[in-house]
Amino acid sequence: MSSITGNLKQVLDELPRGVRLVAVSKFHPNEAILEAYQAGQRIFGESKVQELSAKHDALPKDIEWHFIGHLQTNKVKYIAPYVSLIHGIDSFRLLAEVDKQAAKAGRVIDCLLQIHIAQEETKFGFTPDECRQLLSGGEWRALSHVRLCGLMGMATNTDNMDQVQQEFNSLYDLFLETRTTWFADAPWFCELSMGMSHDYHEAIRAGSTLVRVGSHIFGERDYSAH
Ligand SMILES: *Cc1c(COP(=O)(O)O)cnc(C)c1O
Repeated sequence: MSSITGNLKQVLDELPRGVRLVAVSKFHPNEAILEAYQAGQRIFGESKVQELSAKHDALPKDIEWHFIGHLQTNKVKYIAPYVSLIHGIDSFRLLAEVDKQAAKAGRVIDCLLQIHIAQEETKFGFTPDECRQLLSGGEWRALSHVRLCGLMGMATNTDNMDQVQQEFNSLYDLFLETRTTWFADAPWFCELSMGMSHDYHEAIRAGSTLVRVGSHIFGERDYSAH
């Protein structure tokens, strides 16, 4: 058994029912993705449009591609024809562009609103109040080619796991509030994307439904080749 297959099985064995794995394959070659694919994995996450497009072209068509990074408005058109879920919607402008490109592609694209929960300036996303304002505003309801399916967030990159747990708990609370207030009649609003290699146990404990695990499965990323 290759280490990718072994790592994948180890992570999958730890996931409770109702929690799905996004295998984050960014910076890893097609062969690595194929190993995980052959072990049964179908959901993969990428964070660069060009890299995602090349992999989508080359790899099996029943892969569900999730876009997990910061998405630039001018690049939405390249992934709109096939992307399964966009995790990082961080502005109304981006959501509107996804709607426009989804309409052109004749699709409805599932999206998550990214919420800034970390104590770091570098992470993208709405603050909880900005999220409430966006949803209260109601403009999003006119966008018929996107479907808001839940929230996504990243905890602070720290070894203080109590802090990480608190941040995930606060995102879960916001998720419940949002669902009750704006999506009570929308059963598809059911996804909470949180948890990476070093904190997915905490995320699961806090109610994650989608963990995004990369290096724990594929090994460290080699950024120097890019
Ligand atoms: C890279 C990335 C991950 C995976 O990170 P690992 O630490 O390798 O598991 C998860 N989520 C997002 C948004 C990422 O950019």
